[in-house]
Amino acid sequence: MWKNWSGYVACPHTRVLTPGSVAELGDALRQAARDELPVRVVGAGHSFSPLVATEGVIVSLDALQGVIDIDAQAGIARVRAGTRLWALGEALAAHGLAMENLGDINVQSIAGATSTGTHGTGITLGNIATQIAALKFLSADGREVSASPTEDPHLFAGGRVALGSLGVLTEISLRLVPTFRLRLERGKMDLEECLARAGELVARNRSFEFYWLPHTDSVLTKAWNVTDEAVDKMGWQRYLSDVILENTAFGALCRVGKAMPSLCPAISRFCASLLSRSTQVDASYSMLSTVRQVRFNEMEWSLPAERGADALREIRALIARREFPLMFPLEYRWVRGDDIWLSPNYGRDSVHISVHQYVGMPYERYFDAVQAICLNHGGRPHWGKVHTLAGPQLARLYPRWDDFLALRERMDPSGRFLSPYLRTLFGLDAVERPWRRHETA
Ligand SMILES: Cc1cc2nc3c(=O)[nH]c(=O)nc-3n(C[C@H](O)[C@H](O)[C@H](O)COP(=O)(O)OP(=O)(O)OC[C@H]3O[C@@H](n4cnc5c(N)ncnc54)[C@H](O)[C@@H]3O)c2cc1C
Repeated sequence: MWKNWSGYVACPHTRVLTPGSVAELGDALRQAARDELPVRVVGAGHSFSPLVATEGVIVSLDALQGVIDIDAQAGIARVRAGTRLWALGEALAAHGLAMENLGDINVQSIAGATSTGTHGTGITLGNIATQIAALKFLSADGREVSASPTEDPHLFAGGRVALGSLGVLTEISLRLVPTFRLRLERGKMDLEECLARAGELVARNRSFEFYWLPHTDSVLTKAWNVTDEAVDKMGWQRYLSDVILENTAFGALCRVGKAMPSLCPAISRFCASLLSRSTQVDASYSMLSTVRQVRFNEMEWSLPAERGADALREIRALIARREFPLMFPLEYRWVRGDDIWLSPNYGRDSVHISVHQYVGMPYERYFDAVQAICLNHGGRPHWGKVHTLAGPQLARLYPRWDDFLALRERMDPSGRFLSPYLRTLFGLDAVERPWRRHETA
């Protein structure tokens, strides 16, 4: 049975096809058209929202992975769409190249990550989709369609973040940078001091983010800068902090908090007491990603950069009322604005606020309250994470919404790549109910 990473989106009766070649993928799409079955594509299944769910057919590109070719001089790599991000680091480094930025983890597929606007942090760095130089899709009838800034520029503008609604991406060309090494410095700071100094911290570091621990005044800061220093993988120390403390020990604490929710504030304060300063140096692709073994559900909002601090303060006041049992830190990041029609960063430099809840613990009321605060500050939801917006609400947030809907109609007039969730999202069907836990019949 297909399930997403958090286990909250499940399709017990849906067939998952894994074509071994682009020709087989074309055959599968033509067969689905003859059978009049809807098709959704899955990457690594790491989205929290039910983007992949369908009662038709799920197509996985797990057998279509790897680098096709690299033009080292131009700094461009053609990559099969199912390729996992972790597999790209060393493959590109062998040619002296690297991705400009990555998100918090590296297990997503390149097509899945770009299709939802997945991002890392850094006010001069766009989301991963901004690293795309060209795209290749297979349409519902198995036809190949290409896009780049010069070849079908509308499809390029709309197709880089498209939620799998335009066709199946088979190939992505990435614009790369020369390999670089990063020094990551972790520290502890007071939340208000961090917010007051945010402008300086963001300007001074290539990438900067912080995690605020609920029920405390403390944040964990993370700052990455390019360095020539020798690689210092920190061996067992890194394993201790990244795997044992952040995953095994934190997972055990979450189980305690789930069993006794009244202990959640104390657990968060205990975690804050363990924060300390540390540094590490390694290849960029190794330094940017972390291991996430503790399962959770997540909501994330992209806000105009100047509204982030006020939104966070309101969320903090909400949490101070202690209506919700919370242990997970809130994550606060920066992303450069871009010109991709459905990118949450379209037209504005942004701050991203993410809130999490441990699996099996209630998140709906907490996420609803955070959503109301972030909407009030001009927030746009992360497409891969939990939110309850649909149709007209989303249309108001995206200046090129109607252009995207017209592009979707042009690319997939029969609606083969639609699902009830996408129909609601795009305002093609009336909102039946807010999207929560999802299971297809
Ligand atoms: C532990 C964890 C950490 C995360 N960290 C971050 C983070 O740091 N930053 C961030 O922004 N997000 C983060 N996310 C969210 C995640 O990056 C996105 O949800 C991303 O889309 C997941 O990629 P995936 O390969 O699993 O795609 P899936 O979830 O499988 O699919 C996502 C979308 O892409 C479409 N798609 C997939 N493959 C194709 C294809 N070949 N052609 C066309 N469409 C396709 C799907 O149809 C779907 O609409 C995190 C999620 C988890 C679970």
